[in-house]
Amino acid sequence: MREVRLKTRNDIRGIYDSCKIVAQLLVDIEVMIKPGISTLELDNWAEEYIRDRGAVPAFKGYRNFPATLCVSLNDEIVHGIPGDRKLKEGDLVTIDVGADLAGKFSDTARTYAVGNVDVEKKRLMETTKMSLKAGIDAIGNRSYISDIGRAIQSTIQSAGYKVVRDLTGHGVGFSQHEAPTIYNYPVEEENMRLRNGMVLAIEPMAAIGSEKIFCASDGWTLKTLDGSLSAHFEDTVAIWEGKVAVLTCLNDRLAEELFGGGVRS
Ligand code: MG
Repeated sequence: MREVRLKTRNDIRGIYDSCKIVAQLLVDIEVMIKPGISTLELDNWAEEYIRDRGAVPAFKGYRNFPATLCVSLNDEIVHGIPGDRKLKEGDLVTIDVGADLAGKFSDTARTYAVGNVDVEKKRLMETTKMSLKAGIDAIGNRSYISDIGRAIQSTIQSAGYKVVRDLTGHGVGFSQHEAPTIYNYPVEEENMRLRNGMVLAIEPMAAIGSEKIFCASDGWTLKTLDGSLSAHFEDTVAIWEGKVAVLTCLNDRLAEELFGGGVRS
C-alpha cells in the first residue's frame, strides 16, 4: 500500500481554507439547480467562483478531466462531464468539486433534487447522506478504516440499497488522491488504524438497483449497469487527537476551533 502522508495542524489549516471554498460553493450553487440550466453553465459559474477566491479547480486537467465540476445525473454515479445537457424536473444531480488552494486540496460532493422528486429519490438521497454521517461518526479514538466502511455499508444496506463497491474514498490534502483507500464496506486485508493528522475524503455512493457499474463512451462517466438511480455524498475530514473535524462542513465547531483562522507563519 502507498504511504499515508500525515498532516501537521498547520497543513490542515491550509486544507481547511481550501475546503471552505468548495463547501460554500456547494451551498451557493443550490439556488441555480433548477430545470433548464445546463451542466456547463454550472461548471462555468463554479470555475469563476473558485478562481475568484484565489484557488484553482483541482479536477480540471487531472488525468485530462476537462472541467471544474463532475456533474452526474440520475444513473450516473460519478465523473459526469459538464456540457449542453440541461437539468430536468425530477432529476437527481450530483455535483463533485475540489479546489487547490496554494497546494492544499479539498474534495466534496452532494446529490441534489431538481425541482420536485418522488419519495424514493428523496429516500435514496437521505440514506446516502446518513451513511456519510454514520461513517464519520464511526471515527473515534481507537478506530480503524474498516469501522468507516462498516458503518456506511450497514446504513445503506438496511435501507435496502446497494453500496457501489468499485469506487472508494481516499486520503487528500497534499494532492487530490492519496493513500489510504477508504472503502465503503469493511476490508480486513487493507485495514489500518486511523492516525493523528490523517485527512480523508469519505464518499459513499449508493444505488437503488445493481451496484455494478460501467464507464460510458465518453471515457469518464461511471453509471450503474442496470440504469438504476444513484446518489453520492462526500466530505473531507481531519483526524486530530482522537476526534474528527469535518472540514467541508460550514459550521463544524471542532474544525473551526482546531483549524480556523488560516495558516500560521
Ligand atoms: Mg473524492
